[in-house]
Amino acid sequence: MPAGAGPSAVLRTLAGVIAKVEPLTPARALRGPFDYLLTGSLEDVDVGSMLVVPFGRRRLLGVVVDLAEESDVPPERLVEPLAALEADVPEPLVRLGLWVAREYVSTPARGLALVLPPGTGTGATRPVRPKRALRAAMTSAGAAALAGRDPTGESPAMRSGRGPSAARGPRLGPRQRAALAAVASGPLGAATVARRAGCDHSTLRSLERRGLIRLERVTEAARRPRLDGVGAATGAVALTPAQRAALRAIESRLVAPPARPLLLHGVTGSGKTEVYLRAVAAALRRGRSAIVLVPEIALTPQTAGRFVDRLGDAVAVMHSRLTRRERYDEWWRMRRGEARVCVGPRSAIFAPFSDLGLIVVDEEHDGSYKQEGDPRYDARTVAERRAATEGALLLAGSATPRPESMLRYERMELPGRVDGRRLPPVEIVGMAGESGPVHDRTREALDEVRRRGDKAVVLLNRRGWSNFLSCRGCGRVRGCSNCDVTLVLHRSAGEMACHHCGHRESIPRICGNCGSVSLARHGAGTEQLERELEAIVAPAPVFRLDSDVAAAAGVAAVLRRFDSAPSGVLVGTQMVAKGHDFPAVTLGVVLDADATLRFPDFRAEERTFALVAQLAGRSGRGERGGRVVVQALDPGARALRHAAAHDAAGFLAEELARRQALSYPPFGHLVRIVCSSTDPAPDLVAAEAVRARILAAGVPVLGPAPLFRRQGRHRSQLVVRSRERATAIAAVRHAVEAVASDRAHGAATFAVDVDPQ
Ligand code: ADP
Ligand code: ZN
Ligand code: ZN
Repeated sequence: MPAGAGPSAVLRTLAGVIAKVEPLTPARALRGPFDYLLTGSLEDVDVGSMLVVPFGRRRLLGVVVDLAEESDVPPERLVEPLAALEADVPEPLVRLGLWVAREYVSTPARGLALVLPPGTGTGATRPVRPKRALRAAMTSAGAAALAGRDPTGESPAMRSGRGPSAARGPRLGPRQRAALAAVASGPLGAATVARRAGCDHSTLRSLERRGLIRLERVTEAARRPRLDGVGAATGAVALTPAQRAALRAIESRLVAPPARPLLLHGVTGSGKTEVYLRAVAAALRRGRSAIVLVPEIALTPQTAGRFVDRLGDAVAVMHSRLTRRERYDEWWRMRRGEARVCVGPRSAIFAPFSDLGLIVVDEEHDGSYKQEGDPRYDARTVAERRAATEGALLLAGSATPRPESMLRYERMELPGRVDGRRLPPVEIVGMAGESGPVHDRTREALDEVRRRGDKAVVLLNRRGWSNFLSCRGCGRVRGCSNCDVTLVLHRSAGEMACHHCGHRESIPRICGNCGSVSLARHGAGTEQLERELEAIVAPAPVFRLDSDVAAAAGVAAVLRRFDSAPSGVLVGTQMVAKGHDFPAVTLGVVLDADATLRFPDFRAEERTFALVAQLAGRSGRGERGGRVVVQALDPGARALRHAAAHDAAGFLAEELARRQALSYPPFGHLVRIVCSSTDPAPDLVAAEAVRARILAAGVPVLGPAPLFRRQGRHRSQLVVRSRERATAIAAVRHAVEAVASDRAHGAATFAVDVDPQ
């Protein structure tokens, strides 16, 4: 309806008739919210409603972020929304989406897209809708009419005051009788009823008017995604005393959630998952919903499987391989309250519950909780925010908690494994002077696994065959044409691949620079290691798990094969160190364990410690015990020594002291700004401009520093390190928005990362 067609001037003075609508458009320049006039034709519009609105000559999908009584827009220019969609989002989630947008220096549309039903992201004008079928159900009056009785003065049609037809009594025509008979045994699709009764739709409508049947639009039976469980453990067990104590603490805090989240620090195999399961059940008993965040489900199907096994249909699983339709159906099951628990990776933090009581963050140290694209949110930080604003308890757990959580959360311990077994002894071996990738000690240990018919898990965080190829003649190293990094050789695929942009090319036989045929391969990746291990443990099988294999065969398939093999070796990247529970594993091996330490990153130590400790956690979970061998160039590295001693508390204490001295998180906050451009200069010029504005706001900033060219883009980086989080974020937001909207910097794009990983 065009502006002025309705009684807008009058309505304008009534309460709540202006809807403030944030349009869902990817354009950064379009700054909402915009005012729209609500008249009687759109009922029930509230914060969280999704509206189709006219916008200039276009129509856009938007979210109502506020209701107001007044508008600054002159009445004659106020227009009405065109339609309201069926789906709406609980108000606290709208606030959360907008908070994410601000906190992570993104746009409102992108923040809101996170909390909307799947498929309604930015740029969408028509969201996916559930298929809604018309269903007919018999009323008690209908049953009475069919049985030939008078509906004794109790006709629902009379009560609703709708039908003069109610007075006509229960006389039924043959078609009507047939239609009633069709629904006698239970609700049925309207189309089916009409077919069986040989009647048409108007017959059903007239039955409805007389109160004899109910017609309702229902969403088609939601499709339940299947979960590929890998030997998921079922059934409840008797809790250990430590588990019981933890659960008691959790239950008491469910009643009145404290300001501080809880941290369940328990060694690998200490039964943390069992505690989460019971905590979720306790929340459900109190009539509250729960969210369980897990690292990527494809990597840890066991954990999600345990929730489904224990809680059944109350669980919605947000698997990354769900179709859009399945996601949408699960979203509706949660929105309608049919599903009360959401298990999923980071995006599950936006599950559309309006009665949230508990958020569990499993393996809270896991880097996958940080989103890589804009908005670069951290699901753990969002979880803190959501728990605080919605009165829910946040329960994070890990064997290797982040220093952040160690400092800020209230800690509970599960000090030992449930079976009372000790953690496996860890031996560190130095690789200085070694030629091959496998140390003699490792070889011996693997040989023992082979002889005893046990299993081993071997971790090397580098996929492919060789790290890089260099020319023996001129020394030229084969690099990516889009990025300033070396290409990695993948032998089975017969190609060189860039791990940053996905560029592939065939393996060269001669040097492109000097024509020499002598090319040297350097460094071993998982592909080469797989061969090496096959030779050592044959005839036992070797299973490789890295993203190359995962793309082809699927993680679950590989894990299942390893699980069902009587013996063998699982080799791969960090994927093998996730929370798998394979009792027959008696040996864990980490190759090049200090590779991560060679990256210039303040989290390098934390990451190295966690990787080794988690891998150690895969070993010795069964009766035969276990051991761990760690190969490193520098066997004395602090993170490795602590990991070998299973001393998380000691490591974290030292780590926190170090970070405090340097104002690193959690004592200071980092914001990273990357400016990029296709030509080599604009990125740097833009970075200088951003820097000047941040400094002008009184916030110290480091850089610009050049980053290696990636995907054909030149990049310059700025880093803000500050103890004043809100001030730093605001300064960055204003600086980037100003420079980004300045035409002089039109050739540059900007990526802001708050709390970069
Ligand atoms: P975590 O999550 O701490 O690594 P899990 O919860 O996966 O540990 O527990 C490890 C194994 O011990 C699982 O197979 C689990 O079923 C089992 N388990 C957990 N709690 C108990 C218990 N109280 N008694 C016996 N077995 C248990
Ligand atoms: Zn050469
Ligand atoms: Zn590349």
